[in-house]
Order: sequence, then structure tokens, then C-alpha cells
Amino acid sequence: MGSSRPGNNQTQVVIGDDPSDTVNFVVDREIFWVSKSHNEVVEWFCVRNQNGHVHGSPNPCFTVRFNKLNGSPFAHPDPSNPSYTSDSTGYAVSNPVKHTVSPDSNRLYGYTIEAIGKNPLDPGGGVKG
Ligand SMILES: [Zn+2]
Repeated sequence: MGSSRPGNNQTQVVIGDDPSDTVNFVVDREIFWVSKSHNEVVEWFCVRNQNGHVHGSPNPCFTVRFNKLNGSPFAHPDPSNPSYTSDSTGYAVSNPVKHTVSPDSNRLYGYTIEAIGKNPLDPGGGVKG
């Protein structure tokens, strides 16, 4: 695990079930920001609690997929699959920012949060200096 206090800074995204419609996700942060010069990474945390949810069982809590126009800012081990899937504790962490990506406060990297039985949700993120 990364921080013991998820959701308190711009590099952390907390993913939950929408209490008013559990087929939907909610996030505490629509746009994350990572610092390239500080080698920051994004952390995603599951706090889903509806319908008897158990982290990682029987399916992963979520997958985040960088499948939008601007692609992914991260140095994925497999660039053909720019996604991260949560572990058995409901946690996922990105790779560092790619060398070829420049900080740009006007450029957003949309991504999709997916899970079995849920509608996808499309938040985003950016890279700062
Ligand atoms: Zn979970």
C-alpha cells in the first residue's frame, strides 16, 4: 500500500459505489495531478461497500484503462495495454510518467474505470512540472 490516508492529495483517487445507484461508480477526485519532476505516481483505492462487496473476490474491484484521445502519460510495462487492475486489497498504482510526456496543465488524460457489473466511469488526470 502507499499512503495510509487515501484521498488527501492530488495523486490519490478513491473509488466507491454510488449509494443512490450501485451500478455506478463515484470518485472523490475527478482529475488527479502527478508531478513529473518529483516522480509521482497515481494511487487508486477501492472503498466500494455495496452488495456485499469483498475486495478482489470474486473479481477485481476495478480496472483503470487509459483509452482516450491523449492515451496514457505513464510508462506502462506493456504499452499496448495501458491499464491497471486492483490487487486483492482494492489498490492499484501507476508507473511513473513517461520520459516523452511533458508537463502541461492544459492537457488532460481521460481514463475509464471499469468493473464487472458496473457502468464505466470516465474521470481524468494531468501531469505537472
Ligand atoms: Zn474493493
